[in-house]
Amino acid sequence: MLFDAHCHLDFDSFDADRQAVFERAHAVGVSRFMVPGTTRERWGAVLSLGERADVVVALGLHPYFIAQHAAGDLEALEKAVAPGDRLVGIGECGIDARFEATLERQWELFEAQLQLAKRYRLPVIIHCVHADDQVAKRLKQLDLPARGLIHAFGGSPEQARRFVDLGYWLGLGGAVTYDRAKRLHRAVRAIPDDGFVLETDSPDMPLAGRQGQRNEPAHLDETLARVALLRGQDADWVAASAWDNTHRLFRLEAASL
Ligand SMILES: [Zn+2]
Repeated sequence: MLFDAHCHLDFDSFDADRQAVFERAHAVGVSRFMVPGTTRERWGAVLSLGERADVVVALGLHPYFIAQHAAGDLEALEKAVAPGDRLVGIGECGIDARFEATLERQWELFEAQLQLAKRYRLPVIIHCVHADDQVAKRLKQLDLPARGLIHAFGGSPEQARRFVDLGYWLGLGGAVTYDRAKRLHRAVRAIPDDGFVLETDSPDMPLAGRQGQRNEPAHLDETLARVALLRGQDADWVAASAWDNTHRLFRLEAASL
């Protein structure tokens, strides 16, 4: 069984066939899904997906959508987090250094969400592009009680090791399926068995050979196959490790799933 540890199934691009997307995933053994929030406007859709027995959710303010975040969104986030039973984490939040003009505001929002994760003892789901070293430094200082996920990890073996040593899990997704991703492949080989989860980031991050297409959780088995090949491990072993790791990361009872 596979757990898609990060997929945006609330996005509009799934409105026309969302149920079929779930069915195709289940048909290939992808039976659990973590859907993170990206903007306040979408939180309602995320929370309603969380009513499904096979979905768990988090809420956050994503750096990519910085222009959509308004004053008051952080307070609203804290209000949504406070009940404590609906969310398995804070996020998606983080730093995307491709967007230099907004970096200062990105760090303000990220820092506020890290503090929420600390206060409510929830894991944090981190989007981190071209900022691995700075983010790792801040995570080390903060010593968050529930750690979290470095989603769509794309860094070096050294960066992977540092996040794992800090107690964070690395999300491995479609990027590993590209032959040119040599540095990431070295990192995938270097991660310990208890340090990674598998994710699609649907509808984004298309796999090799599927560029330009919408991604969906049913493709997670292709990422699994590539990770197993890179690590020289049996796919069943990798799947079982990732399944256990995802439950530990989001502190889910295996029995309740
Ligand atoms: Zn995402």
